[in-house]
Amino acid sequence: MDTICIVCPIGCRLTITKDTTNPDGYIVSGNQCKRGERYGILEMTNPTRVITSTIKINNSHLKRLPVKTNGAIPKDMNFKCMELINSLEVEAPVKVGEVIIRDILGTGIDLVASRSME
Ligand code: SF4
Repeated sequence: MDTICIVCPIGCRLTITKDTTNPDGYIVSGNQCKRGERYGILEMTNPTRVITSTIKINNSHLKRLPVKTNGAIPKDMNFKCMELINSLEVEAPVKVGEVIIRDILGTGIDLVASRSME
């Protein structure tokens, strides 16, 4: 599999192949550092993503509040997570880092505000 490493802005092109000497192993090439190797292996075994989005906020000068998950969640839960995020609505004021949803979809990860809004 070919993919782009998203761990840092360099964006190395990774090639991930099965390790023929280890049935559970993968070999990553194209990475410039160990973090890229870890990312490549995780993409094959347990791909995850941090979600960033916005939600509706009432009583504020802006209509949308930026939010993000405070950790990576399994990639196959992204769609369900976005459905939930799109249904949310909060009241100002909100402080940066404030938890909007704790343990989103049972992942152990929280959805938090990315900025303060009066
Ligand atoms: S492999 Fe290392 S240097 Fe390349 S994009 Fe990933 S983290 Fe950055």
